[in-house]
Amino acid sequence: MLINSGPFNGVPSLDAIQKVTDDLATRGLGRHTINYRLRDWGISRQRYWGPPVPVVHCAKCGVVPVPDDQLPVRLPYMKDFKPLGAGASPLETVPEFVNTTCPKCGGPAKRDCDVMDNFLDSAWYFFRYVSADDDTQAFDRELVRQWLPVDMYIGGNEHAVLHLMYTRFVTMAFHHLGLIDFDEPFKKFRAHGLLIREGAKMSKSKGNVVNPDFYLDDVGADSFRTYLMFLGPFHEGGDFRDTSLIGVRRFIERVWRLVDENEISDEPPAGMAELGPVHRAIKKVTQDLEKLHYNTAIATLMELTNELYKWPRQKREAVETLLKLLQPFAPHVTHELYERLGHPTMIADDGWPAWRAEYCAVEECEFVVQIGGKVRGKVVLPVDADENAVWEAAQAIDAVRKQLAGKQIVKRVFVPKKLLSIVVKP
Ligand SMILES: [Zn+2]
Repeated sequence: MLINSGPFNGVPSLDAIQKVTDDLATRGLGRHTINYRLRDWGISRQRYWGPPVPVVHCAKCGVVPVPDDQLPVRLPYMKDFKPLGAGASPLETVPEFVNTTCPKCGGPAKRDCDVMDNFLDSAWYFFRYVSADDDTQAFDRELVRQWLPVDMYIGGNEHAVLHLMYTRFVTMAFHHLGLIDFDEPFKKFRAHGLLIREGAKMSKSKGNVVNPDFYLDDVGADSFRTYLMFLGPFHEGGDFRDTSLIGVRRFIERVWRLVDENEISDEPPAGMAELGPVHRAIKKVTQDLEKLHYNTAIATLMELTNELYKWPRQKREAVETLLKLLQPFAPHVTHELYERLGHPTMIADDGWPAWRAEYCAVEECEFVVQIGGKVRGKVVLPVDADENAVWEAAQAIDAVRKQLAGKQIVKRVFVPKKLLSIVVKP
C-alpha cells in the first residue's frame, strides 16, 4: 500500500505501478516499457565439441535447414581439433564435412561449421528425459503432457539466474511454436544453501571439503544424512562441525534404544497428554517437509523422542509414528526397527501418518504487555510463545505502537507464559 505518495496514497503497489506510469505518460515525463532480463544470447561456438548447427549455406537459397531425415548432423572424426583462433571453427578444416549439397536446389552448398553451446541443451534436457529412448523425435508430446512441467526444481543459487532464464526462454519458445501446452518449465524452484567449514565456504579450491566415505564408516549413513539436513536451513546451508554430527548420531541411537530396548505395548496412546505430542509432531514434520524445512522437522522429532522417553511404557502407535516421520532422514535404521516391530513390509510402503486436528490444538494463554511499568495491552498466544513472538504480536496493538512512537527502547523483560515488559528511555 503506498504511503507518502500524494494522490497515490492507499493504492496497492501493483495497481500503483500502472497508475503512476499513466500519470507520468500524460505529463510527458515517461512511458510504459518492459525491460527483458535475458540479454542477447550467442548459442554458437567455434570449437569441436558440441552438436553442429544443422543448417547449410547455399549461394542461391541462403540459409537452409537440414531436413529431418538427415538429422542428426554428426561431427566428423578429427585428430587435431584445437580451436583455430580468430573466430574460425576447427570443422572448417574438414572439406568432407564442409562441402555438401543444398537440400532445396541440389546445388553445391557449405555446412555451418559452428557447434551449439552446451547451455542450449542444458536448457531443455528435461523434455528429453521423458523420451530418452525415442529415435524418431526430440520428445513425445503425449509423454510431455503426462510428466511436465517439473513439480520442483532444486539447484544451487547460480542456477537461479542464467540457467533458469535460458530454460524459461526455450520453454516459452516451444510453447510459442505449439509444441507444448505450458510456458513455464518448473512449478517451483528452490535453491539450496552452501556448506561452511572452518569459517569458509566448502569448496574444492579451498581444500576444506569433507569426504563422505569417512563419515559413512564413522557414524553411519543415516546419521550423516540426518546431520546434513539438520545443520541449517536447507536454503541457507550451514556450518559443518564434527561435534554436532556426533549429537545427531546420539539422537539416532536414542531412537534405536527407545524402540529396541523397550517392551512395546499394543495399547493405543490416550488423552491429550499422549496424543497431543504425537499429532503435533505429525503435523509439524509433514508441513516442514513440504517447505523443505528439514532442520526444524528433525528438531521436532528430537522433541518427540524426548517426550516418549517420559512415558511409563512405549506404545506401538507412537513409536511407529516416530519411525515413519524419521524414515525420510534415516531410512536404514527406521526400516530395521520397523522390521523388529514385526512388520514384513517396507516402512516406506506403509503410508505416511495423518494428524488429527483435535489433538493438535496448542494450549494458549494471555501475555500482558507493559510499557514503562503500565499495562498497554494483552495478547493471546500459545503458552510456549517466546519473547520474539510476543514482541511481534504486541507491536500490532495500537496503544503499544502509540506509546513506543519516537521512544528509544532500553530493554525488554520477558516472563514466559505471563508478561512482556518494555523499558523505554523517559
Ligand atoms: Zn540451394
